[in-house]
Amino acid sequence: MRFTFVTLFRPLMEGYFEDSILKRAIGKGLLSVDFLNPREFTADKHRKVDDTAAGGGAGMVMMAQPLDDAMKHLRSESPQVHIVFTTPVGKPFRQSDAKRLASQKRHVAFVSGRYEGIDERVIELWADEVFSIGDYILTGGELPSLVMADAIGRLVPGVLGNAESLETESFESYLLEAPSFTRPKSFHNLSIPSEFLKGNHSKINALKKRLALAKTKYFRPERYLKFTQRESDEKSIY
Ligand code: SAH
Repeated sequence: MRFTFVTLFRPLMEGYFEDSILKRAIGKGLLSVDFLNPREFTADKHRKVDDTAAGGGAGMVMMAQPLDDAMKHLRSESPQVHIVFTTPVGKPFRQSDAKRLASQKRHVAFVSGRYEGIDERVIELWADEVFSIGDYILTGGELPSLVMADAIGRLVPGVLGNAESLETESFESYLLEAPSFTRPKSFHNLSIPSEFLKGNHSKINALKKRLALAKTKYFRPERYLKFTQRESDEKSIY
């Protein structure tokens, strides 16, 4: 899997790949990461990438031309690239999108807006998909791009040491994952549920399911409701 980040602020992003799981995946040749700066494609001698908003209003907008030329460059170098634009008004990014992109695409590019956003015509011309990572406004698309790349990257086969851990994760079904514990058995007078320590796997699974139900009902009542309505066709993860 190759990720290209189209951004004016590469230094904000590259550190994320310099440690831990994604660094290891790059070392193993499972992932590769590169950057494209729209500023390198400006036709203007001052290397301007933003301009005032048409129709007025506060703030600057990322101009169409530099981004359009950056996209042309990207597409000609990699015809199969899947181009994702980030915007708070996009479709909410979900685990199912991460799975689909990890299994179906070999090269995904993420375009980060800044300021008030990107001239809509560039999105219209180039986006294969447009995603939001949630209902809040960030200063730029760099974090959303990293969020999506991380969610996709860890699903690429071989990136996580233990692929089994993917199967019981939250969002694999309407139920959230049961809480996890590790040693010591007692911490600040709080103990691990005793069933977890006894080694009877069917009892442990039954308890995990009860805990997962309680947690889902408490934190995500809308998912709990869907689970109870759909339980018969849901694959059971416990
Ligand atoms: N004025 C815009 C917000 C622009 S935020 C509006 O009100 O809709 C500037 C850039 O940050 C966007 O172009 C996008 O790339 C990124 N961004 C901000 N919040 C985001 C979110 N929740 N999801 C995805 N991208 C986001």
